[in-house]
Amino acid sequence: YELLRNTVLEQGRVLGDDVLKVDSFLNHQLDVRVLNAIGKLFYQQFGALEIDKILTAEVSGIAIAAIAAQYFQVPVVFAKKTLSKNLDPDTWEGSVYSYTKQQTYQIRVAKRYLGKGEKILILDDFLANGQAIKGMHQILEESEAVLMGTGVVIEKSFQAGKEMLRDQGVEVHSLIKVTSLEGQQIQLREK
Ligand code: 5GP
Repeated sequence: YELLRNTVLEQGRVLGDDVLKVDSFLNHQLDVRVLNAIGKLFYQQFGALEIDKILTAEVSGIAIAAIAAQYFQVPVVFAKKTLSKNLDPDTWEGSVYSYTKQQTYQIRVAKRYLGKGEKILILDDFLANGQAIKGMHQILEESEAVLMGTGVVIEKSFQAGKEMLRDQGVEVHSLIKVTSLEGQQIQLREK
């Protein structure tokens, strides 16, 4: 936990008042030692549950989910954001509203990789407005898979996602909680 926390504080950069760039270890360059710590922390939180698969979204969820999956010993399925020839036409879909682009896009998982009754852990890098997580929940509902838990590496507690999901009955477990990015200062909640 200390490694992750210190890396966020030392390497995180603030854009504007509400965006935290973590390109040096999580979103562009990948620091596998930090990713491994993240994988272990998710396993500490969710390891006692029976999990069949981890679901995440491309691109930035993949590294985290894959490393966590080594502890859970389960496959990872990532939702795709673009239609391509490589994707089966038969898919479950969820919609995600992007506040930055001010538009809604679909995320998709091939039906052959997610089905009724499968026990799913959702993992992602950030929780901001909660749209990405909501889209993945929608995919689970469509497929009648079972949501076992939802985890994110970094929650921006000052944005609406956490509360919005809680109101829908979904608790998100966050490894790091950012309480403010005002004045380019990264403020974290004590563990
Ligand atoms: P949402 O608003 O749906 O919770 O967040 C959508 C996605 O935007 C997240 O999965 C994450 O990839 C990205 N995102 C949101 N806020 C931040 C941020 O402060 N920094 C970075 N690097 N990505 C973010």
